[in-house]
Amino acid sequence: MTTQELIAEGLQLPVMEAFYTIQGEGKFTGHPAYFIRLGGCDVGCVWCDVKESWEAGKWPVLSIEKIVDGACAFPGRLVVITGGEPLMYNLNPLTKLLKEKGFTTNIETSGAHPYSGDFDWVCFSPKKFKKPHPSIYIEADELKVVVFHPSDFAFAEKHAELVRKDCELRLQPEWSKAEKFTPEIINYVKNHPTWNISLQTHKFMDIP
Ligand code: SF4
Repeated sequence: MTTQELIAEGLQLPVMEAFYTIQGEGKFTGHPAYFIRLGGCDVGCVWCDVKESWEAGKWPVLSIEKIVDGACAFPGRLVVITGGEPLMYNLNPLTKLLKEKGFTTNIETSGAHPYSGDFDWVCFSPKKFKKPHPSIYIEADELKVVVFHPSDFAFAEKHAELVRKDCELRLQPEWSKAEKFTPEIINYVKNHPTWNISLQTHKFMDIP
């Protein structure tokens, strides 16, 4: 098979970086985790802090065995697959292999592509710049909306109507606008208690 065919099958994937750190955001905040950041994203968020991830062709294409070997080198057994936009790829083979090795699998996605993979926790962070694929709504365990603009509260509520009733709802200030929006988010959550707050605590800890 060619590299393109192997990527299409999900047997090889472009990896921008992979590193062992502490999950800074959302449900698993504070947990040690191995992050696998796949290269490639076509969503185009203006405030994206990993714009270098967008071009998939810039990053080395690795076999899923090699990717999982990297994760196995560390003691933690939580893996977070992120990007870029990881659902641009078929994640079934990678997550199957991770599960076989005993990992808990999490994904962070904008949901802009069809869902794939076997994940224990799906963090769905929709973006205004590319509409989510309908397959994500039933899968989402956590809806995490980044607040960058006052209209993001209405955007968050619109998506909250579409996810499962047991999906956890979180609002997270965009880092560069945190000073402006954190007080508004605090006030919003106090008045709309189905929501809670996610902070990018890794940035406070100065870790990746
Ligand atoms: S979906 Fe994520 S990686 Fe893609 S542009 Fe938006 S913030 Fe950046």
